[in-house]
Amino acid sequence: MVKNENLRERFYGYTVQCVECLKWRPIPTIKEFEEIRANVSEDPFTCKKLKLTCDDPGDMKPDSSIIWAFDEAGAPKTPPGFDRDGILRKDCSQLDVFYVTPEGMELRNSAEVAMFLEEYPEYKESVSVADFSFTPLKVMAETIPEDYDYLRRVCVKT
Ligand SMILES: [Zn+2]
Repeated sequence: MVKNENLRERFYGYTVQCVECLKWRPIPTIKEFEEIRANVSEDPFTCKKLKLTCDDPGDMKPDSSIIWAFDEAGAPKTPPGFDRDGILRKDCSQLDVFYVTPEGMELRNSAEVAMFLEEYPEYKESVSVADFSFTPLKVMAETIPEDYDYLRRVCVKT
């Protein structure tokens, strides 16, 4: 658990693939995205959920203008007041998930969440360790720009 002093990659946008037409649809808010993500195994996403039909154009296509990563199906909704973001690994294979608490503390694993809850017991009524998932996000390899330079952060928009 460290104070959030370093600049991290921010999740830039959210998109979900329709199981029927396989188009990627942008999801307007993180709240809606997390709602879909939490239930996607029992309730697969289709264009209908956005009041669209599968024939409607305007889907997003993964390309190297932005790095895409697959989120964990069923991951819990981020507790109110907390932020969830990622750190791209040097080999660009995965994004490691971390959370930022309302106090600006970074939590990088369940042990740090447990320590945080000990330190700030006022959250214990509404938040538990199970509300956080640290499963890394797998990067879609074809979206990494060919000239991508991790150290210089060229083209990074996650
Ligand atoms: Zn569709």
